[in-house]
Amino acid sequence: MITVNELALSFGSGGQRNKVLNEVGFSVKEGEVFGLVGESGSGKSTVLRCLAGLYSHWEGEMAIAGQPLGRKIDRERCRLMQMVFQDPYGSLHPRHTVDTALSEPLKIHKMDNIGERVRQMLLKVGLNESFRYRYPHQMSGGQRQRVAIARALILEPRILLLDEPTSALDVSVQAEILNLLAELRARDGLTYILVTHDLGVVVHLCDRVAVMQQGRIVDTLDSASLSNGGATHPYTRSLVDAT
Ligand code: ADP
Ligand code: MG
Repeated sequence: MITVNELALSFGSGGQRNKVLNEVGFSVKEGEVFGLVGESGSGKSTVLRCLAGLYSHWEGEMAIAGQPLGRKIDRERCRLMQMVFQDPYGSLHPRHTVDTALSEPLKIHKMDNIGERVRQMLLKVGLNESFRYRYPHQMSGGQRQRVAIARALILEPRILLLDEPTSALDVSVQAEILNLLAELRARDGLTYILVTHDLGVVVHLCDRVAVMQQGRIVDTLDSASLSNGGATHPYTRSLVDAT
């Protein structure tokens, strides 16, 4: 469903040039939950941003559903793949109601039955009709993240890129959102790439995981290996031992 080959990205120029991704490669099967872990600054978010089309100056090759990704965001990419950010305000406009946030992508893509689609999607993410005309500041963090997930799903994509989707939430709410993501995936056969610094989340939700260090993938393993002592790479072991 997703292949990334020798992905590289630098910021800055001349002597200030900073190589942030180096020979990053992995592939994700349809319906798989693929984790990306690694310490802060290792390049996890940058990988997702390249896939989502938020950067265009990358080198290498990326493809989704057999189609090579170009440097510009196109309609087809939006239909197939959406991103959810750590902070729901990454995808929600503070002065747009939930209804506006969910209707907008449907209007852009000239879909029919917009009102009914919005209603169904809210139910799907566990929000009743009373949320429909609320603004982001009139909801809790967990409710806002549910709306951000609803917005990501409204065009019925096949892939979600999830960048620390629960890191900004209270612990009790984190579990609710993770359960929702697990449910949605089981029901709709979605493919996820999930960035997290929480190895517990990886074990709970991911099938496989790639470990990043300083812009490179240094290890790829079944996520079960993280909990049953199967991790052998020294850097991966150090992450396991630290938790
Ligand atoms: P992670 O998500 O693993 O914490 P990021 O992908 O956000 O890491 O960042 C990787 C590295 O790239 C960091 O050193 C960060 O400072 C740098 N970086 C990220 N975005 C930019 C940018 N827009 N301009 C310059 N440097 C950036
Ligand atoms: Mg990040």
